[in-house]
Amino acid sequence: MKPFLIFMCQKCGTPYYCKRTQKTKTCFKCGHRIQIRSARILTYADSVVEARYLVEAYKVPESRRDEIIQLIAESKSKKPANNKTIFENFIREQVSRREKNIIPETLFYQILNEKGITDDWIKQELDRLARMGLMIRPEKGKLQFIT
Ligand SMILES: [Zn+2]
Repeated sequence: MKPFLIFMCQKCGTPYYCKRTQKTKTCFKCGHRIQIRSARILTYADSVVEARYLVEAYKVPESRRDEIIQLIAESKSKKPANNKTIFENFIREQVSRREKNIIPETLFYQILNEKGITDDWIKQELDRLARMGLMIRPEKGKLQFIT
């Protein structure tokens, strides 16, 4: 269940958002004390950010509203970059700038850990690259990528 709802003041039509658990809200515009239970619910939101955008969308003329709501939905459905993308971009952008594509293994892990990738995942991916001949260990503790 989405935790936020977007509703309208019954008296003047100003849109607001609140948590589902909230009972009342005083309208800034007309001073009406809105009973949220009986207010007109416009839609629901997953986050405060989305709720704020939706409130703004309900303030613009109806003719433009659908377009804005569509944009909000699209920006929500964009998934954050996955591990593989982060990993591959890191090798392409960072490692390839180093001499002979060599990077200390500890540093490699450290930076990717900071990007939210776990040791297990990194190790598995390095093993895969090694098996394909795309990564070698020229000396202990150093990784060299063949690009
Ligand atoms: Zn009002």
